[in-house]
Amino acid sequence: PRLANQIAAGEVVERPASVVKELLENSLDSGASQVEIDVEQGGIKLIRLRDNGDGIERDDLPLALSRHATSKILALEDLEAVGSLGFRGEALASISSVSRLTLTSRHSGAENAWQVQTEGRDMETSVTPAAHPQGTSVEVRDLFFNTPARRKFLRTEQTEFKHLEEVVKRLALSRSDVAFSLRHNGRVIHQLRPARTEAEHERRIATVCGPAFIDQSLSLDIAAEASGLRLWGWIGLPTFSRSQADLQYFFVNGRIIRDKLVAHAIRQAYQDVLFHGRHPAFVLYLELDPKLVDVNVHPTKHEVRFREGRLVHDFIFRTLHRVIADVRP
Ligand code: ADP
Ligand code: MG
Repeated sequence: PRLANQIAAGEVVERPASVVKELLENSLDSGASQVEIDVEQGGIKLIRLRDNGDGIERDDLPLALSRHATSKILALEDLEAVGSLGFRGEALASISSVSRLTLTSRHSGAENAWQVQTEGRDMETSVTPAAHPQGTSVEVRDLFFNTPARRKFLRTEQTEFKHLEEVVKRLALSRSDVAFSLRHNGRVIHQLRPARTEAEHERRIATVCGPAFIDQSLSLDIAAEASGLRLWGWIGLPTFSRSQADLQYFFVNGRIIRDKLVAHAIRQAYQDVLFHGRHPAFVLYLELDPKLVDVNVHPTKHEVRFREGRLVHDFIFRTLHRVIADVRP
């Protein structure tokens, strides 16, 4: 089975950033309100993530590392309305097959913490006692140490770190209620306190996206009662523009997505005010009935399929168009 994991790992684990994405999603799924991330050498040498979530029970620790073991789907029909971020039960198995992984956890109902370790394909399933507060730590060392072909595709430490940081930013924007910290080679890069009020949420956006974005943006919050759609967030004013690094974040029910239909609706709404290849900047949250979106399209889950594509498209377009028209210079 470990060989199968190594093959599957190609899908999910491409670089340190993809490891961090999977680990962070697991932490959020576990109900953590605080996540600390420590990385060394762009994550190639070390990724350590600690959360204060529900933790994993002793007997479930080895299971967590095995393929297709997930605690998140109780019945097939759950797939229709998956609320948790991960649900395939592949991530930890895949990551552990291409790294040296240590999983330490103390379940909320347990008095002690326990630990399992793996080294590439050599699965060491013995569970040993450990010291850990409630929650889970995952340590991933020497990514791709046993798959040199894959390791060759890694870029410089700085580039890998940039990708990794972007993953943290996206998840930090999707969950303002959770505290995040990110350290690289011992240096604090992000320290985000949980945001509970609107002002605190705005401060988080400013920290993650830069204060200039908040200064030159409009906030909106528009709901369409009849269809149950709600769109809120911040859009950059025409004066705020970035042509190099895009600042474009779109969340559907709290998940970051990249979607042609959404992109088209936004581009249409902006078309009268954009010029010289400027890109619109936005942090937008769309909320709708989970039954109307299918997130089970691609393993990396950036794509969605809307059941009512036309409706969603027109709602986004009309909402943004109206807001933008009001502020057109
Ligand atoms: P999935 O998230 O798709 O279920 P993973 O391989 O990412 O699969 O994780 C396997 C299982 O390990 C999860 O279903 C969950 O039960 C457990 N797990 C992993 N990370 C954590 C965590 N940080 N806190 C609590 N449980 C976790
Ligand atoms: Mg997962």
